[in-house]
Amino acid sequence: MRKYEDTYRHKGLRKKLIDVLRDKGITDENVLKAINTIPRHYFLDSAFDEIAYEDRAFPIAAEQTISQPYTVAYQTQLLQIKPFDKVLEIGTGSIYQATVLAEMGAKIFTIERQKELFDKSKHFIFKKEYPNLKFFYGDGYEGLPTYGPFDKIIITAAAPFIPPKLIEQLKVGGFMVVPVDEGAHQRMVRLTKIADGGYTEETFENFSFVPMLTGKNG
Ligand code: SAH
Repeated sequence: MRKYEDTYRHKGLRKKLIDVLRDKGITDENVLKAINTIPRHYFLDSAFDEIAYEDRAFPIAAEQTISQPYTVAYQTQLLQIKPFDKVLEIGTGSIYQATVLAEMGAKIFTIERQKELFDKSKHFIFKKEYPNLKFFYGDGYEGLPTYGPFDKIIITAAAPFIPPKLIEQLKVGGFMVVPVDEGAHQRMVRLTKIADGGYTEETFENFSFVPMLTGKNG
């Protein structure tokens, strides 16, 4: 099974990707270390083996995409992950972003609305390595009220607005990193929950994500 070999060539390409991410401004060494550890080509169809370490998004199943490494690094850096942080991710997709977070020692609860993608997570190749990664089939707009509140929330699809139920499920002082829809592009927003249940917002670069849709599919 060629797909699941992590060769010297793959490792070399991954190191080069880390240089690219540094050049683009990623500074959090823990984020870079996690990306350097995780074999991104395992999260893609074997047809992408040769190009898996290019800083690009690629198609996965159900007309969805694996995020670009720069985007994964950028969102992860904004989250300021600490070991044992309880993190909710909306949009499991390829599981790559969730694995980067799990590698950093956080406890990850990830939700996917596409049944086909959720079903794939049952056979996740790194199940044993990351017992701190839990998969849920559902609508991310609802979050996971019975598992919250969370230290951090990350949305990996373009949200037309910041989902109010997710703000409720965030701890005071916690961060939510979310690309908020503005037509063709989204501005990356980091929301910090404050004591009265309100929040403050910081705005960062523009990105391009697949849409965050309502309800479940499948
Ligand atoms: N984090 C993923 C990115 C996948 S793209 C990765 O690393 O590969 C975004 C994903 O969000 C898609 O799989 C899409 O199906 C999912 N999605 C969109 N709207 C959603 C919603 N309301 N709830 C849960 N998942 C959603």
